[in-house]
Amino acid sequence: MLKIAIQKSGRLYEDSIKLLKECGIQLNNGNKQLKTVADNFPLEVYFLRDDDIPQYVFDAVADVGIVGENVLLEKNKDIDLVYRLGFGKCRLSIAVPKSMQYNSIKDLEGLKIASTYSNILQKYLDEKKSNAEIHEISGSVEIAPGIGLADAICDLVSSGSTLFTNGLKEVEVILRFRSSVDS
Ligand code: ATP
Ligand code: ZN
Repeated sequence: MLKIAIQKSGRLYEDSIKLLKECGIQLNNGNKQLKTVADNFPLEVYFLRDDDIPQYVFDAVADVGIVGENVLLEKNKDIDLVYRLGFGKCRLSIAVPKSMQYNSIKDLEGLKIASTYSNILQKYLDEKKSNAEIHEISGSVEIAPGIGLADAICDLVSSGSTLFTNGLKEVEVILRFRSSVDS
């Protein structure tokens, strides 16, 4: 039995389910349970938080997983990226309050950046020789500057509307996650 791990709910859920359907796989349990077995194929589907998927695949609890490349990079497990599926396109960026004067990464010296991507961010700061401090949080990153938790954020961006509604502006793009359907 082949085992696949997909996101339980969130931005990757619909497209992951659609992909399985397009492969002719019939699932009838929805995502109410942690796992389900396909009706017409020897496939077991695990519904998980995206952050946990790389570990499940690394531990061989799942044979394959569908997850954002951002999560794959941040978790840094020894597992292979075998295929880019073409959905979930986004970029990882640093954003600061709109009112802040920003010219270069030097403007972040000594400041605090809230992020869930501390490994990727630390690597970027090291490359840029920045001593900005990372404040690791697990969610709702975009409100951090507004509540005085941090001076800046590093988070995923697609349209930029979430940044805008939280009074932030994108100032550095750390990584662009390609959505092309290749390996
Ligand atoms: P979970 O509850 O599974 O931990 P999550 O809140 O961490 O979910 P989602 O917001 O559902 O994750 O995003 C899942 C993935 O969708 C991201 O890791 C990323 O690869 C992709 N994605 C595409 N666009 C965006 C965006 N604008 N913001 C966040 N993630 C995006
Ligand atoms: Zn997550």
